Amino acid sequence: MAAAVLIAGALLYEGGRYLWREKRWNWIVVHHTASDFGNLAYFRDLHQREKGWPDIAYHFLINNGTAGTAAGQVEESNLWHDRDGGYSTKVHEVNQFGIAIVLVGNFEKHSVPDQQMEALLHLILRLKREHGIPLDHIVGHRELWATACPGKHLNMSEVRAKIAEMEKNDAHR
Ligand SMILES: [Zn+2]
Repeated sequence: MAAAVLIAGALLYEGGRYLWREKRWNWIVVHHTASDFGNLAYFRDLHQREKGWPDIAYHFLINNGTAGTAAGQVEESNLWHDRDGGYSTKVHEVNQFGIAIVLVGNFEKHSVPDQQMEALLHLILRLKREHGIPLDHIVGHRELWATACPGKHLNMSEVRAKIAEMEKNDAHR
């Protein structure tokens, strides 16, 4: 599977690596920061200092209104700008082929504010459409690995149901 993808990547490389990079996304993984303060620059700095990573581990970050942001405001990292793989999970395939979205907040302790949930649903729907990602490949971190992330108050079954409903409503317009 991975070999076939790499061969396809090599072929598409002739036409420009950007094309194969756009074609490869096959997962969306949702995370929380497990803390209620920060923005993209804040977590990038934290990851670089504490983990020695080259950038924040996620492609998109959804703000909660702290650190000079508006609740529901979406920031894109350099990882997304460069279409680089992430390193937000311990599952290699998902890091390589998955788009990582993180919400600022601790959803093990409290529910997801409406503005952040709305931003999450619209971002997922857009990425799902643009990259043809199947519904069952839209997952929370803890559906892949033994972790609390993105918290018990962020119910990914509900998120998938809402995405399916939004797609259905759009199709009927
Ligand atoms: Zn996570």
